[in-house]
Amino acid sequence: MKVKKSKILLISISFLFILKLLTFTIYAQNTMDNDSLKSKLNELQYYVTQQKGTEHPFTGKYWNFFQKGKYVCVCCGTELFESDTKFNSSCGWPSFFGSKFEENIRYQRDTSYGMERTEVLCKKCGAHLGHVFNDGPKPTGIRFCINSASLKFIPLDSINK
Ligand SMILES: [Zn+2]
Repeated sequence: MKVKKSKILLISISFLFILKLLTFTIYAQNTMDNDSLKSKLNELQYYVTQQKGTEHPFTGKYWNFFQKGKYVCVCCGTELFESDTKFNSSCGWPSFFGSKFEENIRYQRDTSYGMERTEVLCKKCGAHLGHVFNDGPKPTGIRFCINSASLKFIPLDSINK
């Protein structure tokens, strides 16, 4: 009986310790995330991804860029789009008619600026990416209008290496 009691106590203490460690890790992670994000991103990247900003059209790195490869989240590196679904929409922002990495994308209703739009976010870290519209080319008919500042391009050559 005595052994059993101490065993239970030990398990309880271990459990509490693990819980505390976990809470601290999450807390530390969050604080670190914001600090490291600020130092990792430039002003525009931070403004776009963390404050839901929009870069000026025809100014971003990728609006007129069509190399083979994939685009990952500039904040957390999650795969978001690939060059195979990128098209020239002439809107001044990188445009995609779909994503192979749909499971990494989150959608949210956005009614800012008196418009009814669907915001596109990185599912993993919540970074704002841009918006999605229903005026895209066939076969999907959708157009992801994404800020260059929220993306990082990984060339196909370096993926295959
Ligand atoms: Zn992300």
